[in-house]
Amino acid sequence: MNGYDQLLEEVIDTDICVSCGNCAAVCPLQYISIVDNKPVQDTQNKSEIESRSGLACNDCNICVMSCPRIEPSYFWQKKELERAKYDGKPKAARTTYQPIKKVCQDGGVVTTIFKYLLDNNLVDGVVVSQYNENCAPVPVVVATEEELLSAAGSRYTVSSIYSPLADLKKLKDKGYERLAIVGTPCQIYALRKTQAIYNRRNMLIPHNIITFAVGLFCKGQFDDQILRSIDIDKAGVTGFDVKC
Ligand SMILES: Cc1cc2nc3c(=O)[nH]c(=O)nc-3n(C[C@H](O)[C@H](O)[C@H](O)COP(=O)(O)OP(=O)(O)OC[C@H]3O[C@@H](n4cnc5c(N)ncnc54)[C@H](O)[C@@H]3O)c2cc1C
Ligand code: SF4
Ligand code: SF4
Repeated sequence: MNGYDQLLEEVIDTDICVSCGNCAAVCPLQYISIVDNKPVQDTQNKSEIESRSGLACNDCNICVMSCPRIEPSYFWQKKELERAKYDGKPKAARTTYQPIKKVCQDGGVVTTIFKYLLDNNLVDGVVVSQYNENCAPVPVVVATEEELLSAAGSRYTVSSIYSPLADLKKLKDKGYERLAIVGTPCQIYALRKTQAIYNRRNMLIPHNIITFAVGLFCKGQFDDQILRSIDIDKAGVTGFDVKC
């Protein structure tokens, strides 16, 4: 078994999916969508998509090879991942820029790095996360300081950061040729796994437009199921206090 069926059996049904949205972004047939934080396959249009593209789903297996919850099985992929590891010394830093200080989670380093990248035209946009009207974090592509500030701070529930990459044409039409992205370590691991496939097989993947990535420190993230089950007006929520 391989392809989406393998993801379903080994990752989704076993509840270890981190809802990064990477499988949806890499699928060349656009079979997979993220619905309620879970990857689902478009079975209804499967045969139509397959005959139109001339490809059969399980031929490619990219979703499996790039999923952060499946151990890499190829020597070359392990080697690339080894190479991508950071082996420098840890450093502590804090922003000196007041507008970021006021809204950031900790030292504001992440938002400050993104501001620098945008100010110096090193990227066209940044994939950050913001709450939607149901207090669920959603990935958004931003390009201005104001938008960056409104996305600062941590949301401790899952955000499917790669979902915007599923529609690469739309991103490029909007002028996003070089993007920075921020995510939890498992999410950035998905990026590195995907880039390793690209380097080896020279495949067309949307991740090529990601030129800068920030991995956040993370001990775990919460499912927003609890929040969804609470019957309150989510639009009136002004903040969260997470205690572990
Ligand atoms: C799920 C989660 C768990 C974490 N667990 C820990 C922990 O256990 N211990 C610890 O020391 N630090 C943890 N962190 C990291 C910490 O909360 C800060 O994000 C980090 O210290 C950076 O601070 P900052 O002030 O530089 O970030 P800021 O300048 O405030 O920028 C944070 C950036 O992260 C983005 N972001 C927010 N929520 C998410 C999300 N869910 N997914 C993807 N991007 C997001 C924002 O859009 C923003 O761009 C966690 C973060 C997350 C998202
Ligand atoms: S195997 Fe390929 S075509 Fe099938 S769901 Fe995975 S990425 Fe898409
Ligand atoms: S790639 Fe991400 S969203 Fe897709 S099955 Fe794996 S962990 Fe879940």
